[in-house]
Amino acid sequence: MLQQILTDLKPYNAQLVAVSKTKPADHILEIYEQGQRIFGENKALDLQEKYEALPKDIEWHFIGHLQTNKVKYIAPFVSLVHGVDSLKLLKEINKQAKKNERVIDCLLQFHIAEEQTKFGLDLETANELLNSSTFKIFQNIRLIGVMGMATFTKDKAQVEREFKILKGIFDALKAAFFKDNAVFKEISMGMSGDYKLAVEEGSTMVRVGSLIFGNRVYVKK
Ligand SMILES: *Cc1c(COP(=O)(O)O)cnc(C)c1O
Repeated sequence: MLQQILTDLKPYNAQLVAVSKTKPADHILEIYEQGQRIFGENKALDLQEKYEALPKDIEWHFIGHLQTNKVKYIAPFVSLVHGVDSLKLLKEINKQAKKNERVIDCLLQFHIAEEQTKFGLDLETANELLNSSTFKIFQNIRLIGVMGMATFTKDKAQVEREFKILKGIFDALKAAFFKDNAVFKEISMGMSGDYKLAVEEGSTMVRVGSLIFGNRVYVKK
């Protein structure tokens, strides 16, 4: 399946984040041995544990909702934080990045779905954030684009509409804040069920889990 996904992404030059959440290290290693180097996790402590257990040339992405008190666990090594949705979180990432003498790449997460449960900014709040004097002094974070999750639905037209909204948000921010900034270029959208549609709509980075690893089994703790 991995090769098929990569073949599908190739014409669009989009990157694949293999979402390995809930999957054990040996299963991740199997996919690694097929050539995949970018993996995504949505729990800070799981991510830290897997980072320690697995080869060091893996690029680890944090893809979920990150709590400020968990940033310190992943700050030493994380390559990209997809789900940044507040100034408070950016501030903490900046602080922890500085402690580790690094610059951490981040994506601003936008709320594009119908469901209320999904996190994310709206364009107005993002404008305020980017205009704020607090944001302007951060030296240890680099915003490289946007991320969003479409509604969980079989309605393709709706998902397509939501992807178009995120692309529109990206274009608006690019024009207003990042015009001459070549690194602000990423649009992280698309998962197992809709990654083909996502790249057609401008995604540069898809986050695919179950299609690569099989369905997730959640065990009650
Ligand atoms: C779990 C998850 C994915 C991958 O979902 P699949 O449907 O298994 O491909 C993508 N993005 C985020 C933020 C996730 O939490």
